[in-house]
Amino acid sequence: MDIAKVIVDVPVRSTDKTFDYKVPESLKVWIEVGSRVAVPFGHRTVQGFVVSLEYGDVKAIQGIKPIQEVLDLIPPLSPELVELADWMSERYACRRISALQAMLPTALKGKAERLISLGTAEPEPRDEEGTLFPDEEWFPIFPDTGREEREITEFVRRAGEVSMKQLSRAFPDGAETIKFMLRRGVLKESQSIKDKMGKKRLKAVDLTMEPESAREALNNLPARSARQKEVLSFLIDMDAMLPMPLKDVLSALQVTAGTVKGLEDKGLIEITEVEVYRDPYRGRDFKPSAPLPLTSEQSAVYGRIVGAIDEQRHETFLLHGVTGSGKTEIYLQCIQHCVEQGRQAVVLVPEISLTPQMVERFKGRFGSGVAVMHSRLSSGERYDEWRKIREGKASVAVGARSAIFAPFGNLGLIIMDEEHETSYKQEENPRYHARDVAVRRALLGDAVVILGSATPSLESYYAARSKSDDNFSPVLLEMPSRALGNELPAVQVVDMREELKEGNRSMFSRGLHAALQSRLERGEQTVLLLNRRGFSTFVMCRSCGYVAGCPECDISLTYHSRSNNLRCHYCGHAEPAPEVCPECGSEHIRFFGTGTQRVEEELVKLFPGMRVIRMDVDTTTEKGSHEKLLGQFRDKKADVLLGTQMVAKGLDFPDVTLVGVITADSALNLPDFRAAEKTFQLLTQVAGRAGRHKLPGEVLVQSYTPDHYSIIHASRHDYASFVREELKHRKALHYPPYCRLILVTLSHEQMPVALRMAENYAMSIQGKARQRRWFGSLDKLTSDGLDLLGPVASPLPRLKGRYRFQCMIKWRGTIDAIGLAREVSEELEDSLRDPVLQISIDVDPQMLM
Ligand code: ADP
Ligand code: ZN
Ligand code: ZN
Repeated sequence: MDIAKVIVDVPVRSTDKTFDYKVPESLKVWIEVGSRVAVPFGHRTVQGFVVSLEYGDVKAIQGIKPIQEVLDLIPPLSPELVELADWMSERYACRRISALQAMLPTALKGKAERLISLGTAEPEPRDEEGTLFPDEEWFPIFPDTGREEREITEFVRRAGEVSMKQLSRAFPDGAETIKFMLRRGVLKESQSIKDKMGKKRLKAVDLTMEPESAREALNNLPARSARQKEVLSFLIDMDAMLPMPLKDVLSALQVTAGTVKGLEDKGLIEITEVEVYRDPYRGRDFKPSAPLPLTSEQSAVYGRIVGAIDEQRHETFLLHGVTGSGKTEIYLQCIQHCVEQGRQAVVLVPEISLTPQMVERFKGRFGSGVAVMHSRLSSGERYDEWRKIREGKASVAVGARSAIFAPFGNLGLIIMDEEHETSYKQEENPRYHARDVAVRRALLGDAVVILGSATPSLESYYAARSKSDDNFSPVLLEMPSRALGNELPAVQVVDMREELKEGNRSMFSRGLHAALQSRLERGEQTVLLLNRRGFSTFVMCRSCGYVAGCPECDISLTYHSRSNNLRCHYCGHAEPAPEVCPECGSEHIRFFGTGTQRVEEELVKLFPGMRVIRMDVDTTTEKGSHEKLLGQFRDKKADVLLGTQMVAKGLDFPDVTLVGVITADSALNLPDFRAAEKTFQLLTQVAGRAGRHKLPGEVLVQSYTPDHYSIIHASRHDYASFVREELKHRKALHYPPYCRLILVTLSHEQMPVALRMAENYAMSIQGKARQRRWFGSLDKLTSDGLDLLGPVASPLPRLKGRYRFQCMIKWRGTIDAIGLAREVSEELEDSLRDPVLQISIDVDPQMLM
């Protein structure tokens, strides 16, 4: 291949296309689709990604420049991911480079230095024909390079670690062999990213000879070297685990480093350095778990999914199973089946459900073959987990949203647990939804997708039922009963208006009060949920009504008790909490809002001696704190676990017999068409926390609108009725799933400019849509078409010093509305040439406020 088409990492729109570069002879072996390269661009050198390779007459192309360098010896992206990025760029109206970069860990964004050292695999002698690797596109046929391979191995062994430059100087014709050895893990490439990330090294102990010879040597050691004999015999027994970190040897045998050094001096062992993966779960034991015999409901579902896995064809399943129906067991067994066929699996879980308990279920079944990716890991840990996947050391990845880009070569199964969760949508560029990306990736790679939930999103459920969408029509699988046969807990809705009428001004109804009391007496545990969406603890002066607001964003600041300061949740602005009102000097300035902290104070006041663990953004900022709090609760160091949404998901504690929801409807009145759906989902989730084990559970939901259908249906665990009612509303008001949305936000530092641009944008969309005969009110349009609402000020009208206006495009059918939204935005940017103007396009938005 002579010509590489490269997407360059330059953040302007005019570069959102491929540029041709010549592939120099010396780099031909290394450059593949998915390679990260350094290329000349204007007067600079920039990073880029090879998206295709072509034969061609380089001389015929004027001014073509050569690729300068390849940045990773094994490409960080596969051809499948490159293709996926292309699709993302169209689907989400984003630049291709941002889609490509979303797929890589941050550690790869710096300047990389490539170093080569020995890997764990043994060099293997091969026959004359060489070895053919399974996937021909990825692995070309290699000639016999046995002798060269041995020489290279020896060279690297002696040096310990060499730069790629040194290695190619020593073996000028060895590129093919080196590449082949890297693929097999005989050699290993590591990135040292300048100032960003080093590799972690550890002193390690290894035998210098085969165990049999070592055993002979052991017998020859004099009796007075008892400690040395002990070490040597231990190492022989642990042969499979070598090299073993020195400190592990010392602590296992309680010997000194001197003893080990003595063995080294005798030439029986060697002390080397090994590179360790920063494993965030190192040192933790995961209880091994064996597959459970499936219930008949589970078997039916399992059989259907495994059928598709066996045929290696793409199919998407929507697994609707009540909480406790045993979805996770199905995931585990499907993964096992997939891995046994030599393919890999990705499990996506919402960030906040990615608890140690969740990880344990996968690590317990698949051990170290599981890589875990989530944002609470350090970027070094994240990079190492990513490398474990790319280097084939893991076959299962469990992670939040971005794990959908795990660099597996032969992905066979993608599982998305709690598929209705909004955190699967990325709220910054590229604004992708992991569900759509998953389905697309699976389509490209003939893989199976399982979308699991007790409360599927209306979009997925509707798609499964109506089969009207060619690109997304999941097969619906239902599991209506719990795996352990226990009943779903009884849910009682408490009418808080009645409480108030009868003189109870407390935030706890009399029913909840009594229930809490009885749990305390019986030594059982309670989970209390504060539905805090739309609430925050703000600061208000009772004398003049002043509310502390962010100077940049026009929203009220949130009070943080730990640091005693006020913070803006949008831009991060922070200031000390005022002692007196800055407007009128009054001392009656107070913190308002139904924060978890206030509930905690109230609880302790009402129930002296009650031990409460509070879990919210305030108490879980520190790394590991989330996990620590849950551990304490599990160890029964507290009676009540109190928290925001975080407590609703994925937790499974045997002694929880009461779940209380303090305010069920605080999110119902938000200006978001999904408000009812989100309320229903949250209540269903939290109700599923109670009585999962032997003790029966009770759920109390406090509400000011107990007649609302989302509350009624949630209290009866009646998903189908909720959906029926909700779909009626959606249909009447033209909201998804009956149409699709594109939210376009235009912002500028100057209000009039922002407004004028938003008006231009709207007019231009309407004009072009009319020309194409797409435009009209959705009421009247019978099939394809679009409507535009706005411009209006955004729900957050000023953010980070910028004024914001938005237009909402509602559309339906096969028209290219996304392309149109992008086209008009680009025209506007071109005509204005004002770098301060920002236009963001959010396709299928999840957050409407
Ligand atoms: P879900 O993910 O649907 O909420 P889980 O997979 O967590 O459900 O299962 C709920 C409980 O039922 C767990 O304690 C699990 O160990 C148990 N369970 C699931 N499947 C089986 C089975 N086939 N036999 C026995 N217990 C099971
Ligand atoms: Zn005041
Ligand atoms: Zn702000």
